[in-house]
Amino acid sequence: MTNVQGQPQTAGAKADFDAVIIGAGFSGMYMLHSLRDKLDLNVTVFEAGDGVGGTWYWNRYPGARCDSDSYIYCYTFDKNLLQEWNWSERYPEQDEILRYLEHCAERFDLKPDIQFGKRVVEVVFDDDTELWTVRTDKGDAVRARFVIPAVGALSTANMPPIKGLSSFKGKCYHTSQWPHDGVDFTAKRVGIIGTGATAVQAIPEIAQQAKHLTVFQRTPNFCVPARNGRVDPEVTKARKADYDGVRQRIKDSFFGFELNFIPKAVLETTPEEREQEFDKMWDAGGFAFWLANYQDMFFSKEANDVIADYLKRKIRSVVNDPVTAEKLTPKTYPYGTKRQPLDTNYFETFNKKNVALVDASTDGPIEEITPNGIRAGGKEYPLDIIVIATGFDAMTGPLKNLGINGRDGRALAQEWEDGPQTYLGLAIAGYPNLFTITGPQSPSVLSNMPVSIEQHVEWITECIAHMRRNKLTTIEASPQAQDEWGAHVAEVVNSTLMPGTNSWYMGANIEGKPRRFLPYLGPEGVGGYRRKCAEVAEKGYEGFVFTSQGQGGTVHTIAAE
Ligand code: NAP
Repeated sequence: MTNVQGQPQTAGAKADFDAVIIGAGFSGMYMLHSLRDKLDLNVTVFEAGDGVGGTWYWNRYPGARCDSDSYIYCYTFDKNLLQEWNWSERYPEQDEILRYLEHCAERFDLKPDIQFGKRVVEVVFDDDTELWTVRTDKGDAVRARFVIPAVGALSTANMPPIKGLSSFKGKCYHTSQWPHDGVDFTAKRVGIIGTGATAVQAIPEIAQQAKHLTVFQRTPNFCVPARNGRVDPEVTKARKADYDGVRQRIKDSFFGFELNFIPKAVLETTPEEREQEFDKMWDAGGFAFWLANYQDMFFSKEANDVIADYLKRKIRSVVNDPVTAEKLTPKTYPYGTKRQPLDTNYFETFNKKNVALVDASTDGPIEEITPNGIRAGGKEYPLDIIVIATGFDAMTGPLKNLGINGRDGRALAQEWEDGPQTYLGLAIAGYPNLFTITGPQSPSVLSNMPVSIEQHVEWITECIAHMRRNKLTTIEASPQAQDEWGAHVAEVVNSTLMPGTNSWYMGANIEGKPRRFLPYLGPEGVGGYRRKCAEVAEKGYEGFVFTSQGQGGTVHTIAAE
């Protein structure tokens, strides 16, 4: 075992570990494998859960399944793993994805280096030793050269600040903190708050079991059918035979899928021509309608209206009651500027006799939770179970909660009060040797996550290998490079329709959260972003500052352009 500078671990090293990774989901697991098995570093992982899986460990609500096609919602770094694993469906359920991640943990022998049931509560940089001290809620305090929060973008639950929540006498569950032994809805009156991607999956499932389901909707959503099912074995065989090609295509693509915009403006098409295209995307199911539509969809309100009109007509054609159909039809924001939920019988569910919709704008907003149910628009809805599907303090929440203190005692939670500041969504000025995987201001949630996770893990691994080769002790984003990146992220998104919508992408779902676009919607998507990160590395880590040999050592500055 050698340390990060290539010296034997025993040669006076002060750190307990070369690297501490926080979280054992998709990203933390691959980061561990990569640093430990490629670079031979001494690594430990702290994981709050009692098992691997991250998102797929916690989100066990009924209907939970992935929204990306399974053949690309997986690790692609290992050719044998790609060949040996077989998914049962186009969009596998949560328990199958968790089984996959458990299989990967066994296959790469990751568990011995993961400390389960330990939540990180503090991460502090020491200016003198240039080491991080990581503390957990179980009393651990370990020192490490590198810290890599692999905490996911959607892992801090948003508990809505609704009056009376704790007074409810029945059972109440947030979808991301679901009981491991499930919830029995039989003969129960259930209320669900929220109609985002989670609720769109859960509502049809709960409605099948519950005596009565009341859906409390604040903003209606544009939904597109998932079209889940078994994948034709011939298709699977062909994909397996061409995984090198698949991998290359998703890496170079805009969103990490085998999907590309139609290189044409919808406003230049005839009504017949575009209706045919819309039908094709609708029939294909999945994200095609969102991510492979006409190229002016995200830029022109007029173009967007044409596309949105198709989806509105679909809602009206499925929902029998015209009043309910109107309530379910989005009218206040452009299509695609909120995350596209994929559905299986979502709108059809509102035709069932045991399902009611309470819409905030027409029936009145939720006023309070009472001991017996939910009061909205002056009326009390008696309930036995409340399901809270109100999402997450996305992207910044998980990082701000770690108690990160960087150089000179600066606190990340304070520094990000007005929004995240990063360089490439990978590093933060003032926080040496700390890397974020799929952090704010990187493509992250606007991509097929495993594609972006693999890119970040591989970039970080190569960066640490570079430091090792060159005997460098710390790496840190320069404030100038960080400012320029933040300005670029804002400039790009300001040319789209995204900033005008109250979405969690904009932080608008959390009261008091600054209105900032959180991910990066690069002009050339994840492919362009990957090339940018590679170019930064090729230019000797442009925009980063290195030190070597500890405090007082040589400072190597590589300025941003
Ligand atoms: P979400 O998209 O943020 O939806 C939360 C819902 O709760 C929205 O309808 C929101 O209304 C409502 N809400 C929030 N606070 C409320 C309040 N105080 N009172 C009443 N209603 C309130 O959260 P999510 O559905 O959990 O999805 C989050 C993200 O997780 C998704 O966008 C997606 O990226 C990911 N996800 C992925 C999958 C998958 O791939 N399998 C599945 C599910 C989720 P407003 O719209 O008005 O804010």
